[in-house]
Amino acid sequence: IPRVQADAVSYRYPDGTTALHEVSVRVAPGEIVAVLGRSGAGKSTLMRCLAGLEAPTSGRVLHDGVDRSGLRGRARRRAHARVGLVFQEFQLVERATVLSNALIGRLACQPLLPSLVHFVRSRDREIAVEAVCRLGLEEQLRKRADALSGGQRQRVAIARALAQQPDMLLADEPVANLDPVLARGVVDDIVRLARVEGLTAVLNLHDVELARHVADRLVGLRAGRLVFDRPTASISDTD
Ligand code: ADP
Ligand code: ADP
Repeated sequence: IPRVQADAVSYRYPDGTTALHEVSVRVAPGEIVAVLGRSGAGKSTLMRCLAGLEAPTSGRVLHDGVDRSGLRGRARRRAHARVGLVFQEFQLVERATVLSNALIGRLACQPLLPSLVHFVRSRDREIAVEAVCRLGLEEQLRKRADALSGGQRQRVAIARALAQQPDMLLADEPVANLDPVLARGVVDDIVRLARVEGLTAVLNLHDVELARHVADRLVGLRAGRLVFDRPTASISDTD
């Protein structure tokens, strides 16, 4: 069963823009997929649908074979926690420490039982610290997010997503704001961690070479339509 699958997903914005036309794609557990396409091709919209943040106008999205769109309240928060999101703009709390930012990932989706608050906090803290350390930021744990470099800031955002202990990472142009050398390092980190954890990952990227380098499969969108979907290994330099 795919970790996530879109079946004939179409998405129309309220202003009438059809961002996706019957896109079908399946991502197996542990697979690393890069979604390629120009600005406006529909990558962000597809990712928001795969994350369960948007409901398709038609078609459906299944996580582990289950349509989660009807979930509400606690079940919905729990479902969202299983998806770790990383955005282009990092979206950190600038004046909070690195550790606090990572803890946000840990706590955001968890309704705490009052009697367990203390226990949960120390456990959550351990998990958040570990996520930060995995990204090589142990020296920065107590620093404010706004004191870090761009690459470090994006790593904090990745740590925040990992702290959720998700089973899938979705990264929307995670390195578009970074210079190419830093970008490569950050994408390598995402993919390395995903492989170590056995996490499924979908990355929207516009750098085709980088995508080929890290992904198991490349999916291409053009004007809201799926235009290719191939294992990276089957793509030669001349393609
Ligand atoms: P990206 O290419 O990274 O998706 P965009 O610049 O296309 O970024 O979009 C940035 C933000 O603007 C997003 O929140 C997107 O939903 C919104 N947006 C993009 N195009 C339109 C549009 N035609 N009308 C309204 N909002 C838009
Ligand atoms: P990409 O991520 O590949 O840049 P998007 O998914 O952001 O593409 O956008 C796909 C299409 O949907 C584009 O034509 C964009 O202008 C449009 N769009 C994105 N967000 C909005 C929005 N909030 N309202 C209307 N149109 C939007």
